[in-house]
Amino acid sequence: MASKKLLKMLNTQYNFELESAYVYLAMAADCTNKGLNGTAHWMKKQATEELEHAMKFYEFIADMDGDISQLAIPAPKNSYASLLEVMEVALAHEKKVTAGIYAIAKLASEEGSFDTLEFLNWFFAEQREEENTLKPFVERLKVIEGNKVEVFRFDAELGRRA
Ligand code: MG
Repeated sequence: MASKKLLKMLNTQYNFELESAYVYLAMAADCTNKGLNGTAHWMKKQATEELEHAMKFYEFIADMDGDISQLAIPAPKNSYASLLEVMEVALAHEKKVTAGIYAIAKLASEEGSFDTLEFLNWFFAEQREEENTLKPFVERLKVIEGNKVEVFRFDAELGRRA
């Protein structure tokens, strides 16, 4: 069981996961344009994951007999001053995703929508992982900012993401 309001929030989050893919593709493109192919690779992988997250919401909304709809997706930021800015924006974005998921969980909890809480469990862990991956990137880039050799080393490491 899930109320109309809860289903609407789930649909909003579905769209926000799609927006996440769009944000990461914008970051990938900017990195590609600047020859930062490792980070571009990492961001393309990230975008693919976001589409998978969106589809988890899609299937769950369908399972709960809710309506799935596509909302307007705002244009992402297309140009970044540095890899530090890329990762700072990515981390801030993931914090917004986490907040959205918490808000859904809060309403699901109030409604006793245990199916929704069970569904969201995977996302709690996923969001911890996303934030815990990005935080050290931000910290490291703060330290190496301006050092091209170190920035390209960082970029090469991100290129090894499976
Ligand atoms: Mg996501």
